[in-house]
Amino acid sequence: MANVLLKVSGLEVAYGGINAVKGVDFEVREGELVSLIGSNGAGKTTTMKAITGLLPIKAGDISFLGKSIKGRGAWDMVKEGLVMIPEGRGIFTRMTIVENLQMGAFIRDDKAGIAQDIERMFALFPRLKERRAQLAGTMSGGEQQMLAMARGLMAQPKLLLLDEPSMGLSPIMVDKIFEVVEEVYKQGVTMMLVEQNASRALSIADRGYVMESGILTMSGEAQQMLNDPRVRAAYLGE
Ligand code: ATP
Repeated sequence: MANVLLKVSGLEVAYGGINAVKGVDFEVREGELVSLIGSNGAGKTTTMKAITGLLPIKAGDISFLGKSIKGRGAWDMVKEGLVMIPEGRGIFTRMTIVENLQMGAFIRDDKAGIAQDIERMFALFPRLKERRAQLAGTMSGGEQQMLAMARGLMAQPKLLLLDEPSMGLSPIMVDKIFEVVEEVYKQGVTMMLVEQNASRALSIADRGYVMESGILTMSGEAQQMLNDPRVRAAYLGE
């Protein structure tokens, strides 16, 4: 079985006195695409932020490549190969597309490799190539999401955490984003995908987890979960 890249054990995260994540255990193995689904406010984003060092953890542990990363900052985590593409994307709106991609590679100093990877991103996202000199803030929501993904990939992540990439996009853009997620996965990037679009997220994943009110209530093979009457009733509108 493939190496465990990320292991989360007994994770608790609180905002002030209120626990948002209440003891969560899961793992992601090398080469996997794992989807974390659940309704609004379940604690998915909070979990991702704790993993990437953006929020302190109250209890439990997180290890990446077998080492505890508890208490390490977000910058450090990117250097280790753990990259998050946040909900709302967080692109640099006053920079061009190319400048955003260069920023994504801030931890690298291999100029030729960076230039090559920018071309690779343009092959993966032709729309970004057409608009390479455009200011990122003037692009559509879907284009900005593509840029956010491409920028994340520029850091050569070992694990990419994608927080709700389909949020707020038109159906055509949602299709495009899922196509690209699948393509990136096929190219060998390990991913954890946080989504409210449960059916799409499970249909491309190896495994899935369901989060409700700060705890994981279900886990399993993604295909099996898609057919599970409880998942279908709660998340697939049946
Ligand atoms: P969504 O899909 O709506 O983003 P989520 O599953 O990602 O949902 P979180 O954003 O992790 O959920 O929120 C979990 C809980 O923590 C919610 O009750 C939310 O109101 C609360 N919360 C999130 N951010 C903060 C904050 N900065 N301060 C206080 N409470 C917060």
